[in-house]
Amino acid sequence: MEYKESILKEFARLAVINGVNVQKGQPLVIDAPVDAYAFVKECVKVAYEQGASLVYVNYTDEDITRLNYEYAPTEVLARVPSWQQDRYQDWIDQGVCMLHIVSSDPDLLNGIDPEKIKTVRMARMKAMHKYQYYTMNNIGQWSIVAWPNLKWAKKVFPDKDDEEAVQALWDAILFTSRVEEGKTMDNWDVHNKQLRVHSKLLNDYAFKELYFRNSLGTDLRVGLIKDHIWEGGSSFNAKGAEFHPNIPTEEVFTMPDRRRINGTVYASKPLSYGGNLIKDFSFTFKDGVVVDYDAKEGKEVLKGLLDTDEGSKSLGEAALISYDSPISKSGILFYDTLFDENASCHLALGACYPENVKGGLEMSQEDLYELGGNDSLNHVDFMFGTEDLEVTGITWDGKEVPVFAKGNFVF
Ligand code: ZN
Ligand code: ZN
Repeated sequence: MEYKESILKEFARLAVINGVNVQKGQPLVIDAPVDAYAFVKECVKVAYEQGASLVYVNYTDEDITRLNYEYAPTEVLARVPSWQQDRYQDWIDQGVCMLHIVSSDPDLLNGIDPEKIKTVRMARMKAMHKYQYYTMNNIGQWSIVAWPNLKWAKKVFPDKDDEEAVQALWDAILFTSRVEEGKTMDNWDVHNKQLRVHSKLLNDYAFKELYFRNSLGTDLRVGLIKDHIWEGGSSFNAKGAEFHPNIPTEEVFTMPDRRRINGTVYASKPLSYGGNLIKDFSFTFKDGVVVDYDAKEGKEVLKGLLDTDEGSKSLGEAALISYDSPISKSGILFYDTLFDENASCHLALGACYPENVKGGLEMSQEDLYELGGNDSLNHVDFMFGTEDLEVTGITWDGKEVPVFAKGNFVF
């Protein structure tokens, strides 16, 4: 892959300064695929220039992950050694920020026994669940950015040759991440302001419920938690440091009431989950619980996801994105949630974000649950927005307010 040195630097500055916003004297943890070596080095450099006390880098290699699943027994893979948990606890004690560089092959675990994947995944999620609050509650800053790789690129651009496909994916990542030489930071300032226009309007309406329908067959009512907050763009950590959890991001999102979800929703894009693809799927909810579901492809994987725990059968997030957003207009199907969720209205099965309700960040898990917030090991976004999606907001006194017409915000 060819890239301009200056653009790589610009992207690293976006990830470290705008993304995690590492503070003076704060350690940074970077998770990255080995492919991203050149980018990681730039990120480490920027972090130290910004005053990071130390940068920890954890490299992963998807080819080895695949080999592990092929050869290592389930119980060996499912074992989470105590030192891994100690290491995580130590990072939390140090008040680190975390940068995840993702570069996934959507078909990585294709053909591996779904039961094996589920068992390993659940064991790991359970072992690490008690640390999830650190990022879910925005105690430390965190950010996710993407790096291209050949397998992913060929999935997205199957008609291009290897070199062209990776180049096209790299260009798409830069475009959607608003990276432009010398202009990136300004681009993000403008973008944040636009996102805040929508979140402010929605917060002022304080809807009781959103009603979604389109020609795919979606007819779904999603109750919103009382005193919910619509968020979009940057977030703030416990000490007030501003950061961007997702790069790119186009969404405004809030917290559903996990007990007031009724109707059926049809996915509008495939979902890449744990190295497998789930296609053409739908859920039917009754009083907040999935009571029926179907998928043309990957139904077993979907079953594994829903069966993870109680909370995986309900929702923790509702997000609105205009069908005319830049990622959507690029027409590219990324097979990666970081991108595809930003091209389409989405919902998330699983845990809610405490920041999406007034006082939520200071609330106990039990109090949040009592209010209607959802708890789960999972937080899996799936896309259902279409060009004909209609969204109506219903206020607590019964008024109906159009929010989306023909796939786009009306305001
Ligand atoms: Zn979202
Ligand atoms: Zn989400």
